Amino acid sequence: MSPATPTSKPASVSSAHAPMVIIGAGQTGARTAHALRENGWEGEIALLGDEGIAPYDRPPLSKSVLLGQKTAGECALYDDAFYRDNRIDLRPHARVAAIDRAARRVTLGNGDTLPFHRLLIATGAEPRRLSVRGANLRGVHYLRTLPDALAIVDALAPGQRIAIVGAGFIGLEIAATAITRGCEVVVVEAAARALMRAVPEIVAGYLIERHRAMGVDVRFATQVDAVLGESRVTGLKLSDGATLDCDAVVVGIGVTPRTALAEAAGIDVADGVAVDDTLRTNDPNIFAAGDVCSFPHRLFRRRIRLECWRNAEDHARVVARNMLEYGETYSAVPWFWSDQYDMTIQIAGMPAFGTTSVVRETGTSSRVFFALDNDGVLVGASGVGVTGEIARDVRVAQELIARRAIVPPALLSDRSTKLKSLLTAEAV
Ligand code: NAP
Repeated sequence: MSPATPTSKPASVSSAHAPMVIIGAGQTGARTAHALRENGWEGEIALLGDEGIAPYDRPPLSKSVLLGQKTAGECALYDDAFYRDNRIDLRPHARVAAIDRAARRVTLGNGDTLPFHRLLIATGAEPRRLSVRGANLRGVHYLRTLPDALAIVDALAPGQRIAIVGAGFIGLEIAATAITRGCEVVVVEAAARALMRAVPEIVAGYLIERHRAMGVDVRFATQVDAVLGESRVTGLKLSDGATLDCDAVVVGIGVTPRTALAEAAGIDVADGVAVDDTLRTNDPNIFAAGDVCSFPHRLFRRRIRLECWRNAEDHARVVARNMLEYGETYSAVPWFWSDQYDMTIQIAGMPAFGTTSVVRETGTSSRVFFALDNDGVLVGASGVGVTGEIARDVRVAQELIARRAIVPPALLSDRSTKLKSLLTAEAV
């Protein structure tokens, strides 16, 4: 991926232009505002959000915030002085109601309008809602925002019975946190296994073994038919006929990209706001980045949409430069991590695109699972275990994936073969 340092000053940095407007004051939006300044934009920058608070980091929400190890304030991406010093007009209460492409301006919820030179849609994604009887009872939680996390902290007192719906990243991270806090935990997953879209079965199985060993009751292939209770939740009725008693429910059944504004403005949408490999939409003045957009990825030869921290960071750096007409192609190898108990999971590439799994033992209880496609090309690597025992191999795998390397499975699984030595492997 291209470095953040400007190679030459583009023609369009002049403060005579209308502002750069960013819709969405999350991680992608805030990092893009920062990168616009770093890359020499001298004009105004408006960062518009509707969460009512300054941009913050979301990874701690399912982990250290719930464990009481990090406060809300410590999650802020930048302090007030940063916005002031960088002349970033942060408006955390500014909901955008419409995009007028012809007039190149946005209309805010209060009727004000704001012209833009270039517009970035960084509206992210919102949790899918459970749509069964009782789903709106008190005690049913979702986790996306800081206030959501603070509400869940109170629910995770020792001895509380917590039912988690969905064995995705939210569900499994909260399960680990809740067990650590002394709760009783049940996870209910509709699919036959965990993390269906993220990792191959063998990786998911390895993680679930650990959750079960820690005392989590994990139930697959069963759905919630109803949430039970009068005014607040007391239990769940499952599709397999079972009833679970619980004091609180946390729902983590995936997210939907927030595309409504783009769609209403006639911007192409295809599993998210559709952008090209420079993150530009079908309107040359409008870009999209982060969880909300789908983009064609050179390495995987298809359009993908990523919902992770690293993608937000990387997209922000590139989209800022492309809003300044650098015209850079985005082709970073996806990278993702999750912490559960004392285990780290690091994922490079797109393991779910693989058809063959190869396991490499990298420590007593650490493993790296490689995913190869039908042509033998390495498309993903998932490391599970102690950070120091997996990080180096996942990093090298990232380089191999970037080269579309064809690597013999026997060498991948052989611990005595240095992965680095495979960097000369044939590529397609
Ligand atoms: P997710 O990782 O997509 O997992 C949702 C899970 O819930 C999937 O296994 C899904 O199965 C299952 N599911 C769907 N409908 C269900 C139902 N009615 N009953 C039971 N299970 C159901 O999404 P998430 O865990 O909600 O996380 C939300 C977002 O936050 C994701 O983008 C995630 O990547 C991100 N996140 C990232 C991290 C990290 O970077 N470490 C941590 C937490 C969250 P199907 O796949 O079959 O639909």
